[in-house]
Amino acid sequence: FQSYLFLVNAVLAGYGGLEHRNSTALLCKRDQIPQMNTPLDESAYREFLGLCSHEYFHAWLVKRIQPQAFQPYQLDRRNHTRLLWLFEGFTSYYDDLQLLRSKRIDLKTYLKLVANNWNGILRGPGRLKQSLADSSFDAWTKYYQADENTPNAVVSYYGKGALLALGLDLKIRNFTKNRLSLDDIIRAIWHKHGVTLEGIAEDGLDTIVIQVIGSDFTKTWNEFKTRYIFGSEDIPVQRWLPNTITAKPKSHSKLEKIKLQLGMRHTEVNGWLKITHVLDGGAAQLAGLAPGDLLASINGERVTTARLDKVLTSLNPEQVLTICFYRDDLEHECMTVLDLNQLPDQFDLIPTA
Ligand SMILES: [Zn+2]
Repeated sequence: FQSYLFLVNAVLAGYGGLEHRNSTALLCKRDQIPQMNTPLDESAYREFLGLCSHEYFHAWLVKRIQPQAFQPYQLDRRNHTRLLWLFEGFTSYYDDLQLLRSKRIDLKTYLKLVANNWNGILRGPGRLKQSLADSSFDAWTKYYQADENTPNAVVSYYGKGALLALGLDLKIRNFTKNRLSLDDIIRAIWHKHGVTLEGIAEDGLDTIVIQVIGSDFTKTWNEFKTRYIFGSEDIPVQRWLPNTITAKPKSHSKLEKIKLQLGMRHTEVNGWLKITHVLDGGAAQLAGLAPGDLLASINGERVTTARLDKVLTSLNPEQVLTICFYRDDLEHECMTVLDLNQLPDQFDLIPTA
């Protein structure tokens, strides 16, 4: 394209983007972009820049390089591909990386964004049940039809796909002693499928990866695919980092710890704290709580949205809890235990130098 247009609709509440071949339609909050006489919320603005970067990258990856399964795109039905981790995940990896490379953000900020995404994945029990290939294929029926069980059953091909791209980038850099990187793979995909507009087959990446990195990478690539694309293992990024970056266990405040151990999400309804999600392996699940329950008290203290943090802070990370709640307007009491094993792994990424 000769020029590229960012069409920004800044509203009170809303967020998202739609990619086109030489433009993008973006929706963001007014407070996310610089305004006259108003101090700028740096992290909200960074999120907006990430969105711009994401949709811009799509001009190459998905608007020109496309899955064969999208050619021709059939607008009257669902078009399935197992490759959304590539089209959305790798785009999500490059959106923040391009902000670093273009000096919109510094390394420390970039590592914070990467760690936030990684930690979010590690908090979702669904990551151990659904593979990235399945998450891609079932996007229309699961990812975009979220219900109360989604965090336990589904992994995001955006978030984990971005982590996969980071993992593959690190693997390639290790394997080739920094001679090659994921950039070389993306360039090869561009030449083979972008310039020609020939769609990429479901297994189309195999040949490219081996052509670019070399046939001695075959075993590593096959194992990588089996474990992290078609399997649902955690991607051990901490083991593959260069020695310039360290992954340290994240230190949590007591409140953060207890919230992670409880493993529930909630909303407020008429002054009541209503449970929306109960995560696998958490103390809330152990208690037998379910989405829809109205939480009344924990260890005799009434809980409301306003008082929840105060009540949770008074607890101990290894303690028995008595919880009162209402289900179908009937009062119930249950017991559960807070246990340090309920804490998911969480990391900070720190530049070593
Ligand atoms: Zn996207």
